[in-house]
Amino acid sequence: MDNFTFHNPTKIIFGKNTIGNIGEEIKKAGYSRILLLAGSGSIKANGVYSQVQHSLFKHNIEVFEFWDVRPNPTLEHALLAKKYAADNKVEAILAVGGGSVIDEAKSIAVSVGIPNIWDVFEQKVVPQKALPLFVILTLSATGSEMNSFAVLSNEKELKKWSFGSPLVFPKVTIIDPAVQMSLPKRQTANGGVDSLSHLMENYFMGIDAEVTIAVNESVQRTIISQIDKLHSEPYDYNARANFAWCSTLALNGVTSVSMSGGEWTTHGLEHALSAINPNVAHGEGLSVLFPAWITYVFKSKEFIFERWAKNVWNTNSVLDGVQAMKDKFKEWGSPITLKEIGFDKSDFSKIIKCVQDYGRLGRIIKLDTSDFYEILNLAY
Ligand SMILES: [Zn+2]
Repeated sequence: MDNFTFHNPTKIIFGKNTIGNIGEEIKKAGYSRILLLAGSGSIKANGVYSQVQHSLFKHNIEVFEFWDVRPNPTLEHALLAKKYAADNKVEAILAVGGGSVIDEAKSIAVSVGIPNIWDVFEQKVVPQKALPLFVILTLSATGSEMNSFAVLSNEKELKKWSFGSPLVFPKVTIIDPAVQMSLPKRQTANGGVDSLSHLMENYFMGIDAEVTIAVNESVQRTIISQIDKLHSEPYDYNARANFAWCSTLALNGVTSVSMSGGEWTTHGLEHALSAINPNVAHGEGLSVLFPAWITYVFKSKEFIFERWAKNVWNTNSVLDGVQAMKDKFKEWGSPITLKEIGFDKSDFSKIIKCVQDYGRLGRIIKLDTSDFYEILNLAY
């Protein structure tokens, strides 16, 4: 088992009726002037916004709101939000939403003192300070609520890239699973696929960290059973709560301890798909690509893929495991081919160009242009 450092400083407040704690948490931390970052307004429809507003008002916190963060958040919008935050001299950021809102908030947070946020994504600048970040999670999927990573799209350059910095771990995250009960099936399924994918990105790097492998595969099984329940009963609170916590565990470090930093090729490929077409939901790109990637690479490290097929999908071969996963994704209503999400074979070279611009992919085996072409072909 490899040496490791585990340090996750995010405080999680989890459960029904917990959103009202946000004002006290921000006040206790010493901040009274904040940027509230949010998406399209669904938090007004589900009652989250009024709970947040009430709690902030009660604790005399001055709020500057910035709305319309979209799925696959953009550099352009983050720059506008950064300016708004600076003009109003906010002391902290409160992200109210799912992974997109949190990731844009992280990007704004580290941009203090950095003229061009994108330099952080290009790894030209290492952030030295950040505005403190607080989170109210309304959609379990990306795991961003309890980690130090963020993804942003630079539309002009067709790049959807990520960065990591310990400065952007949220100080406090509140997860009330009850607010996710009204989510459409499609978003629940996407959250399930994304969370499973985070676990798999780390799992397949496993060799001898038995405890991590065992915890990881058990969280995978739990996600499958809970999304199954939610598929037929979206208002099942316990299934929502169990899935929400699985989704956080999938990318908060616990399920990736001693796994060499994970594989992440499938995520890199998916980011190329949604950089080219921002209407492709991250979870949908992953449900198309993950089965193809496994089919292409499993022979290079058969023991771990065989273990996955047996322990997660209860099958006797890797290809049967892949088929079981595809059948499950289909049952949840997720796409399993590139065609279904609007891509054509003529798009392959553009996708591969995006992947190669990013560069940092292919750990179980090194992958070149022809390998990426084959993987896309399998996904077609
Ligand atoms: Zn993801």
